[in-house]
Amino acid sequence: MVILGAGPTGLGAAHRLAERGHRRFEVYEASDRVGGLAASHTDEAGFVWDMGGHVQFSRYEYFRDLMDELLEGQWLRHDRVASVWMAGRLVPYPLQQHLHDLPTDMRERCERGLANLEAPDSTPANFREWILATFGAGIAEIFMLPYNEKVWAYPPEQLSHHWIADRVAPIAAATVAWGPNRQFRFPERGGTGEIWRRLAARLPKSQLHLRREVVAIDTRAQEVIFADKQRRHYDRLVSTIPLDSLVTRAQLASLKPLSDALQYSSVHVIGVGLHGQPPPHLAKQCWMYFAGDDCPFYRATVFSNYSPNNVPDPARHWSLMLEVSESPVKPVNQETLESCVIDGLLATGLITAREQVASVWRTRLEHGYPTPSIGRDALLEQILPALDELKIYSRGRFGAWKYEVSNQDHSLMQGVQLVDRLLGGSAEVTLHDPAVVNAPGLRPRPE
Ligand SMILES: Cc1cc2nc3c(=O)[nH]c(=O)nc-3n(C[C@H](O)[C@H](O)[C@H](O)COP(=O)(O)OP(=O)(O)OC[C@H]3O[C@@H](n4cnc5c(N)ncnc54)[C@H](O)[C@@H]3O)c2cc1C
Repeated sequence: MVILGAGPTGLGAAHRLAERGHRRFEVYEASDRVGGLAASHTDEAGFVWDMGGHVQFSRYEYFRDLMDELLEGQWLRHDRVASVWMAGRLVPYPLQQHLHDLPTDMRERCERGLANLEAPDSTPANFREWILATFGAGIAEIFMLPYNEKVWAYPPEQLSHHWIADRVAPIAAATVAWGPNRQFRFPERGGTGEIWRRLAARLPKSQLHLRREVVAIDTRAQEVIFADKQRRHYDRLVSTIPLDSLVTRAQLASLKPLSDALQYSSVHVIGVGLHGQPPPHLAKQCWMYFAGDDCPFYRATVFSNYSPNNVPDPARHWSLMLEVSESPVKPVNQETLESCVIDGLLATGLITAREQVASVWRTRLEHGYPTPSIGRDALLEQILPALDELKIYSRGRFGAWKYEVSNQDHSLMQGVQLVDRLLGGSAEVTLHDPAVVNAPGLRPRPE
């Protein structure tokens, strides 16, 4: 078996194969490191960065046990402290539970919207309609609609709402304790990438190949092809690279119009290393949401609060990690981005002077968020089975393109469950039944 990509999905598949006693697999990874979007980097000044704010929480027993084993006691546990930046203040998340913290006119507008909520006579046709029907016009207009447009980089009326499950707190359920990530853990050292480095270290070294980008796939000969023209045969190909890129590399002309119709957004991650200590209002914050145009970022993470080892010297430094989304309908000027981010930090009171900045690290994730666009499921229902017929199994965040099952635990479990299906015939519940795996309660371990 050949596995493309050493992110959580590819490593999950490889780990499961090894766990079940199968030795005949090879993993090929384009980058110089494992972890994919969940990798970490240390900048020249010694600040550690993830590719955007990553936290660990899961309802899969298998994933939780594996995390315990991999890092043993080297986890830091946190209670979520999250806020929404509104009307020049940080309002605790979820916003709908803290309307009393808003200025009177805003609060009254939100309350009027809630009072006017009526049971809809038809199911919402898109995410915008779902937001209005769930939160009322007030909360929708002051936060939910502009925030979601900012984070997804597409208008909410172009998105479906079927992915939501427990990702957006509805009014009835919204308390400060709401949601699967109300408590989370983070590696003591090395950032989120440490998890994946440790999982990779368990695999036989000779079977994990870094800096080996697959540039083409010959589906007739069942071979992957590298830039130096070398080829490797596969009996089955587990692909965790973005689905659009897979279809292009395999030159599958009949699937190309379908995979090209899948939408995604890119994410710029800007890590700002800072001198001094966080101000009191940020001393316990984990992350904050930003809907307005006073800053380019939709989310800021106080990354030094996740682990003191994320900064070179915790007595003298702290750090903020910012995420900015981009899509064809929301372009980003790369040249001015860094200065716009620093201006935004000043405008939103996250820093008070430019001189606080010790270092800036940045990266751009071409494939950041798989967009739950309205036609997505119909496209996937054609593409994935057609690939399966060719013995190509495309899984993971961008392999299967389902945002609702694209966290690290979902991704790892997609790899695990695919291997179980190929070896023993059990169903791939994460891929096929997102609502089942995202329902409250623990998902028991597979045999
Ligand atoms: C901004 C952001 C925040 C997130 N926050 C969280 C969070 O808080 N909690 C959480 O659990 N998850 C979070 N995630 C999701 C997490 O990063 C993903 O679940 C996970 O990385 C997906 O794993 P994957 O293996 O499917 O894909 P990827 O991580 O994308 O891995 C795919 C791998 O394939 C490699 N590859 C690509 N093309 C080729 C090629 N041609 N040849 C060989 N190799 C190739 C890539 O280099 C990459 O290593 C977040 C993601 C983002 C972007």
